[in-house]
Parts: sequence; structure tokens; C-alpha cells
Amino acid sequence: MGKVYIVGAGPGDPELLTLKALKVLKKADVVLYDRLVNKDILDNVKSDCKLVYVGKADGKHILEQDKINSLLYKFANEYEVVVRLKGGDPFVFGRGGEEAIFLKENGIQYEVIPGITSAIAVPIYAGVPITQRGLASSFVVLTGHGSKGVLPNIDWDALKGIDTIIFLMGVSNRVKIAQNLIKVGKSPKTPVIFIEKGTTQYQREIEATLKDVADGLIDVSPPAIFLIGEVVKLREKVKWLDNIQEIVV
Ligand code: SAH
Repeated sequence: MGKVYIVGAGPGDPELLTLKALKVLKKADVVLYDRLVNKDILDNVKSDCKLVYVGKADGKHILEQDKINSLLYKFANEYEVVVRLKGGDPFVFGRGGEEAIFLKENGIQYEVIPGITSAIAVPIYAGVPITQRGLASSFVVLTGHGSKGVLPNIDWDALKGIDTIIFLMGVSNRVKIAQNLIKVGKSPKTPVIFIEKGTTQYQREIEATLKDVADGLIDVSPPAIFLIGEVVKLREKVKWLDNIQEIVV
């Protein structure tokens, strides 16, 4: 019986991979990877390593979770080192917890290797410090995508007191998200930013106000981080990346 490693691949830039993840990828016999994993990371595997794509598009599952679990079970019986590679961090909206529970229930040994989550790294590549003394003493990370694509249950009133609000999977429901935040008292002038394909050579940043988003004026495509908060204003002073091509190839 082999061992399964549930591994975070980081947000996009292949160099944002941990040494621990790299070490286990180099000895992997099989890698099951998701859509948001940068394919360059797969260059690190042995030549005879089996690569299996099990990606899911927003809401649309190419392989249902049950099928992924069955594959993990099958491969753990056939191989020694099985890597389950996920974008960002495996336990941040990555269903890593569900897979860990499945493995434990089935008596399969596993380890979890954390990854750098897009929720934190993507704002950094866009020059947004998510906390800043005097301006933001709290941040929250939420999903904007519930089951069947509708907004998940969110305590909007509680968000009023949070300084920096970070939505993952928030692109398709962005108008409703912005409207709800205004409804509970966030100023319509609050600065926001969408960062598409962050930490990759395709990174694109769109700055606006909460009102612009609520009015449906902002065009953006997934995957993107939707960040709301005064810290967006600090970009002018903090932005450190002029040409992403220079650091991400
Ligand atoms: N486990 C992942 C998140 C998976 S949910 C992590 O920790 O990063 C998928 C969502 O993450 C996307 O819809 C998007 O909101 C965000 N995301 C992941 N990679 C991203 C990237 N490179 N740029 C912008 N957003 C990203």
C-alpha cells in the first residue's frame, strides 16, 4: 500500500512551490492534478511518472469528487508515492479536507503539504498589502460560489466590520456581492480590485469602486481574486512589479 500526498502547488508562478512539495513531486509515481496547477510544475516529475488530469472548472466537474476518491484509492494500491496536486493551498477551498477524510476512512496513509494560497499571494503580486497598520487590522477570505453557482450563505452584516474582504470564486456573482456589501453599509466608494490569473505571465489587474461593480460596469474573467478594502489605495506606493514577465517565465 502506497502513501498519498495532498500537495499545494501555489497560486501560479511555478517558483512559489515549497521545497517539501518539490521533493515529493520528484519521487512521485503518479500525480493527479487540478486545472489551476501551473503545468510547468509537472516538469519536475520522473520520466516514468503517470500524470492524470482531474480538473474541475468553476461548478462544472470534469471528474466528480467520488471518482477522484476512487482513483486515489486505486493508485494508493498500485503505487508507492501518489501525489494529489492542487492549486494554491489544498485546504483553502480546495476540497483537500474531504479527500483526507476519505483516505483516513479507507485506511490509506497520507500527508498534507500546505501551499501558498492565491488569496494572499495574488494581492501581493498586485502590490496590495492585505493588512496595514492604521488602515486594515482584519481580513477575511470567502467563497463567492455556493452549490449550483448561487451565492453561498454569508453573514453580510458581519462583513461590515472587516477591513479587507477577499473573495475567491467571486467573479460570476460579483454584482450581487457588491450590492450586498453596500446594503449592509460598506461605502459605495470603497476601492476594490480584481486580479485575474495572478502570479502568472497573464496577470491582469482591474481597479474600481464597490459601486462600479454593483452597477455591473466591470468586465472580468475567472480565475480572479476580488478584493474589497481601503488597502487597494496603497498600491500606488507599494506596487513592486512593473513587468511580470521579468519574474515569471
Ligand atoms: N486552493 C486554492 C483556491 C481554489 S478555489 C488556493 O488556495 O489558492 C479557486 C479560486 O481561487 C479561483 O476561482 C480564484 O478565485 C482563486 N485563484 C486561484 N488561482 C488564482 C490565480 N492565479 N489568480 C487569481 N485567482 C486565483
